[in-house]
Amino acid sequence: MKIMAVNAGSSSIKFQLLEMPAEKQITSGIVERIGSEEALFTIKYNGEKFVETLPIKDHGVGVQLILEGLIKHNVISNINDIEGVGHRVVQGGEFFKDSTIITDEVLQKIIDLGEMAPLHNPANATGIKAFRQVLPHVPQVAVFDTVFHQTMTKDAYLYGTPYEWYTQYGIRKYGFHGTSHQYVSERANQLMGTTQTKVVVCHIGNGASLSAVKNGHCVETSMGFTPLEGFPMGTRSGSIDPAITAYMANKLNKSAQDITDILNKKSGYLGISGLSNDARDIEAAIEKGNERARLAFDIQAKQIADYIGSYYVYMGGLDAICFTAGIGENSPVLRQMIIDRLAVLGVELNKDLNKLRGERLISSESSKVKVFIIPTDEEVMIARDTMRLSHE
Ligand code: ADP
Repeated sequence: MKIMAVNAGSSSIKFQLLEMPAEKQITSGIVERIGSEEALFTIKYNGEKFVETLPIKDHGVGVQLILEGLIKHNVISNINDIEGVGHRVVQGGEFFKDSTIITDEVLQKIIDLGEMAPLHNPANATGIKAFRQVLPHVPQVAVFDTVFHQTMTKDAYLYGTPYEWYTQYGIRKYGFHGTSHQYVSERANQLMGTTQTKVVVCHIGNGASLSAVKNGHCVETSMGFTPLEGFPMGTRSGSIDPAITAYMANKLNKSAQDITDILNKKSGYLGISGLSNDARDIEAAIEKGNERARLAFDIQAKQIADYIGSYYVYMGGLDAICFTAGIGENSPVLRQMIIDRLAVLGVELNKDLNKLRGERLISSESSKVKVFIIPTDEEVMIARDTMRLSHE
């Protein structure tokens, strides 16, 4: 069966069509700059890439274009060949403990949860509405970033804030990138041949988070109420002293929201280096001796190593560290900087293997903790759940 995995943003729709249960990617693509006269539609098929520039008024038009594109490029002969559509939804709150078939009530709940994820859930909901309209008879499934982290216990997910903030306003740690953390930790367990494991997954992309996964269940994660918590990322600061927000709002004569925007969009690699939010630029600048670029990686590596140390204590040991996502999969430099800081735990990389790409073990033979590169596949996780739920 053919399943579509969709990730809708405020001005874009990313999609993949997969043949299931073989988990084979048939095609992928993206509609970008929705709302613009010069929007872009890209579709990759059979090793070829087709790009069109055209006006795309809204998400509905974007979805039409995707489906017409699939037929035009002979990927499918009829839109009814698509037997399920899985949608990435960022915030599922405490309400969603599993992926779910999308009904009117589920869609409304996703919209309501947008209060906690204003940059993501409304856009995800717009994508869902557009696909439901064009494919009304095809099961649509919501797959949440937060679900995998719902197994955390209160000592891990509650903050030291007034308890009523939690009961009345839902203030707690939710965690994000759940489909990736689940995919990678399950794959690590397959590679180790057992589920009785203590694993840390380092998802390091432009957005980045860690998770601690004990015997297949998430027990801790670094992102929190929003994706801003954790360690510095491409443009996010990660955790800081919360009092800085009010202090800097006062100094810069800005609102708390303005400061939060700076912490989300102008911090991390970009803010520290003053150069770029892209890890490749940071690496190139480090090579040339740029101090602040070096600091951008150093601060991030230090904080990641600190989290891993605390997860080691929390889980009572550690069997494997897995690197995934754009930077985790592709930056031997950052991986080395992180693992060097964990020498006290007996973790050691094989320097030659660390230079390679693709799924592999990269720790040395004598390392007490295995280190893996495991390329993530969030679309496969979305397609798996969509297949499971649309056949129940
Ligand atoms: P997101 O999905 O959060 O946007 P990705 O997982 O795609 O992010 O990761 C994007 C990051 O991966 C960018 O900072 C980019 O520089 C980095 N990246 C991609 N390829 C490489 C590479 N070959 N070396 C170092 N970093 C890379």
